[in-house]
Amino acid sequence: MLDSKIPKGPLKDKWTQHKNSIKLVNPANKRKYHIIVVGTGLAGSSAAATLAELGYNVRVFCIQDSPRRAHSVAAQGGINAAKNYPNDGDSIQRLFYDTIKGGDFRSREANVYRLAEVSNSIIDQCVAQGVPFAREYSGYLDNRSFGGAQVSRTFYARGQTGQQLLLGAYSALSKEVGKGAVKIYPRTEMLDLIVIDGVARGIVTRNLLTGAIESHAADAVVLATGGYSNAFYLSTNAKACNVTAIWRAHKKGAYFANPCYTQIHPTCIPVHGEYQSKLTLMSESLRNDGRVWVPKKSGDRRRANDIPEDERDYYLEEKYPSFGNLVPRDLASRNAKEQCDQGKGVGATGQAVYLDFAEAIGRLGKDVIKERYGNLFDMYQKITDVDPYKEPMMIYPALHYTMGGLWVDYHLMSNLPGLFVIGEANFSDHGANRLGASALMQGLADGYFILPYTIADYLAGCPAGRVETDLDEFRTAEKQAEEKTEKLLNINGKRTVDSFHRELGKVLWEYCGMARNEKGLKAALGRVGEVRGEFWENAIVPGAGNDLNQSLEYAGRVADFLEFSECMVHDALSRRESCGGHFREESQTQEGEALRKDKDFAYVAAWEFKGVGENPILHKEDLKFEEVELSQRSYK
Ligand SMILES: Cc1cc2nc3c(=O)[nH]c(=O)nc-3n(C[C@H](O)[C@H](O)[C@H](O)COP(=O)(O)OP(=O)(O)OC[C@H]3O[C@@H](n4cnc5c(N)ncnc54)[C@H](O)[C@@H]3O)c2cc1C
Repeated sequence: MLDSKIPKGPLKDKWTQHKNSIKLVNPANKRKYHIIVVGTGLAGSSAAATLAELGYNVRVFCIQDSPRRAHSVAAQGGINAAKNYPNDGDSIQRLFYDTIKGGDFRSREANVYRLAEVSNSIIDQCVAQGVPFAREYSGYLDNRSFGGAQVSRTFYARGQTGQQLLLGAYSALSKEVGKGAVKIYPRTEMLDLIVIDGVARGIVTRNLLTGAIESHAADAVVLATGGYSNAFYLSTNAKACNVTAIWRAHKKGAYFANPCYTQIHPTCIPVHGEYQSKLTLMSESLRNDGRVWVPKKSGDRRRANDIPEDERDYYLEEKYPSFGNLVPRDLASRNAKEQCDQGKGVGATGQAVYLDFAEAIGRLGKDVIKERYGNLFDMYQKITDVDPYKEPMMIYPALHYTMGGLWVDYHLMSNLPGLFVIGEANFSDHGANRLGASALMQGLADGYFILPYTIADYLAGCPAGRVETDLDEFRTAEKQAEEKTEKLLNINGKRTVDSFHRELGKVLWEYCGMARNEKGLKAALGRVGEVRGEFWENAIVPGAGNDLNQSLEYAGRVADFLEFSECMVHDALSRRESCGGHFREESQTQEGEALRKDKDFAYVAAWEFKGVGENPILHKEDLKFEEVELSQRSYK
């Protein structure tokens, strides 16, 4: 049975009391401990800077040429916090409740409450670092609304919130580099986790410029390696996002939790062709002012501006009057699909709906809209050659975020002692559906305010500096990493790695995407195995292993996606209920909404690896709700 180590006591006091009772490491002893942080997005950078400031020795690894290029820079819309500056009734309790409900009651109460509680400290810290959040006329930080909330609690820096937050975290990190407390290893990919006697003791890496395979030992390893949306090939994530670090840790014994909980974001630029390699997000903030609609008549091929008002179906406003266009992402996505399935989709493919700003421009003026969303409008126009100030945008759902990840307890430690997982890489606080602007909040909460406390509790119980890299376990793992590299280079087949990845993505999108059913998932399981089999027979990976070789890097990541996808499909298959981003067609209400089955499925599914192509073993963590009452989610 998995022990989540949730502290006792009233929900509101758990974190404070826990911080007061967990073990500390004496300041003079901190410098004797070595911590590895893999990943320099918001989660990794904030954790590394804070741990170093506390006095630990920190080594940080990332695959980009600079920590500042981590995928977190892509975050556009904002970060949530319960400051209640607009005085519209927000509170920690409301942020907690919205997040639990938004996640369709499939996350831990204690974690989510803690997240809401520390949200305000994140804003204070970032402001102190100089993050240029937008401000309103009084000088207070401005807020806007995101889906699944009836208050404005999203702090933002135009459409570049992630980038500005990462610059803040990076300057904090740079200070520690200057002090000698942090050493950064850019262009270095973690290929394996070293586990000795069941405890995480280090990692094996590949230098992406020279191909050198190296070992690094530490007293604790922190994975902050982001999400795995790119398993689906087309996603809004940066092309380098991958599952490799957490999948390889999983193969070494770390449980993978809820892999089938993936988020499909409703407002992305639609797919326009077979050879597209990437999808672009249009921030959810646009739904503050943009109205979603389709023509009432199916097959209506007129241009948007030629369709009169009374022939338009503003289906979200109609169906969900309380939340309108700001329903959570899972609902907005499923409803868009439903409209397109009924033949009301627009554009050349019929796989799109409109997001229209005409009413907002009429009400507020073009300048205000430009001020709020100017860079997003420019981006849309550059990609589509359509001016969204004059014609509605066309949008369609796309893979965007993964709520699943490595299982962690309340301390953010995996089932392997010494292995901590933070940010999008862990199974997180978002249950089956993440609300907009909550990922940045969670990554920074983990890195700045939670891990620095909980890791001390672990380290205080272990003597410092126990491991050196000359142990057999490191040699064996290095040899295996080298052999895998050789194996990839020696396949010498005829098909590009990209073509396998694209095929995998199509299988997942078709059978494990916006809607899933038993028959389709079983077909996917078979198909993924076949694609993986052919990959190892017929892929072509050019170049050498002792040099910069991006084809080789990519091949390793696709090989991992091909193994991991089976675990994701197993998870989707075994969860015979609908919840949040996981919509099982066999489990829906009469109105077509997701139908949860709390009696049978109110648990976290944590999977144990049993071999490639073998059925993983399911471990359950029962979710106990003491504060909130489980109810059918309604946004009407
Ligand atoms: C287009 C877009 C817009 C978004 N907008 C918002 C928003 O407005 N608000 C919000 O809350 N959320 C938003 N999100 C989600 C949010 O940006 C991410 O969930 C979050 O930034 C993830 O941060 P992270 O630190 O966990 O991981 P990342 O930022 O993905 O960083 C991962 C790090 O791990 C490193 N890494 C990965 N694998 C390895 C390996 N094997 N070895 C070594 N290093 C490795 C990478 O180099 C990188 O440094 C958005 C997401 C997208 C795609």
